[in-house]
Amino acid sequence: MRIARFSIDGNVAFGAVEGDAAPGNEASLVLDIIKGIPFADFELSGTKVPLSKVRLLPPVLPNKVVAIGRNYAEHAAELGNAIFDEQGRPDAPITFFKPSTSVVGPGDPITYPSFSQDLHHEAELAVVIGRMCREVPRERVKDVILGYTCANDVTARDVQQREKQWARAKGFDSSCPLGPWIETDLDPGDLTIQCTVNGQQRQLGRTSDMVRSIEDLVVHITEAMTLLPGDVILTGTPAGVGPLNVGDEVAVTIEGIGTLTNKVIKRG
Ligand code: MG
Repeated sequence: MRIARFSIDGNVAFGAVEGDAAPGNEASLVLDIIKGIPFADFELSGTKVPLSKVRLLPPVLPNKVVAIGRNYAEHAAELGNAIFDEQGRPDAPITFFKPSTSVVGPGDPITYPSFSQDLHHEAELAVVIGRMCREVPRERVKDVILGYTCANDVTARDVQQREKQWARAKGFDSSCPLGPWIETDLDPGDLTIQCTVNGQQRQLGRTSDMVRSIEDLVVHITEAMTLLPGDVILTGTPAGVGPLNVGDEVAVTIEGIGTLTNKVIKRG
C-alpha cells in the first residue's frame, strides 16, 4: 500500500494511493481516506479524492530523522573518505540527526541557506519506523518498519567541511524533503535510486550497494536510542552528489516508490 499524507480544504489526513503511479499517470491517482492513523490499526473510509485536488504533505512528521553517512563506497570515495579499516571491515557508520524542522514535503521549496555557497543534493532511501522500538534484534527489524519513501539529504557542503558538527550543514530548514508517499509493500534490498537536476541525471545507484544493510542500521541505531512511530532513517547516498543552484528542480526517484521533486529558491 502507498500511504500519503495530505491537506484538503484545510484538513490534514492520510490516504491510500490507488491507481498506476508510473510517471505521467499522476492525474489518474486517487486517495482513499484513512480512518485513524497508519501507525495503528486503521481502515480505509471508502471516501475517495483525486490526488490532483489535494496538496501532498511530508508523509510523516518525524520526531527525529537519524541519518547515516558514507553508506555507499563510491560516494565515500568521491568525497575522499575511507569507510573500511585496515582489515577491510566497515568502520562503525557515521550517524547524525536532521531536526524535525528540516522536513518538507513533495513540491515544497528548498530554501538556499544564507550561510552557504555550495548546496548539494543527496538522494537517499528513507525508512519510516512504524512502532516504538529499542534494542531491535536483527530478525525483528521488519516488524518495526512501516515502509519506505524517498529523501533528499540536502547538504551545505562547504559548511559541512568547515564545521566539525554537521547540525547546521545538514539541519537547516527545508534540508530534508521526504515523499511523495510511504510504500509499505516493498523489498528494499535492490532498488535503483536516482537523482536528476533539471532533468539531467546526477546520481544513479542501487540500494544493494549499501555498505550496511537496513537491518544493520536499525540494530545499530536502536542499540543506542528508542525510535518512535514516524521516525525516519536516511540510509546514505550513492555517488554523484553535486551542486544545486537557485531555480533548480531536483528529483529523487526510487524504484517501486515514486519521485520526490523540489525546487530550490532564494531566501526571501
Ligand atoms: Mg546523506
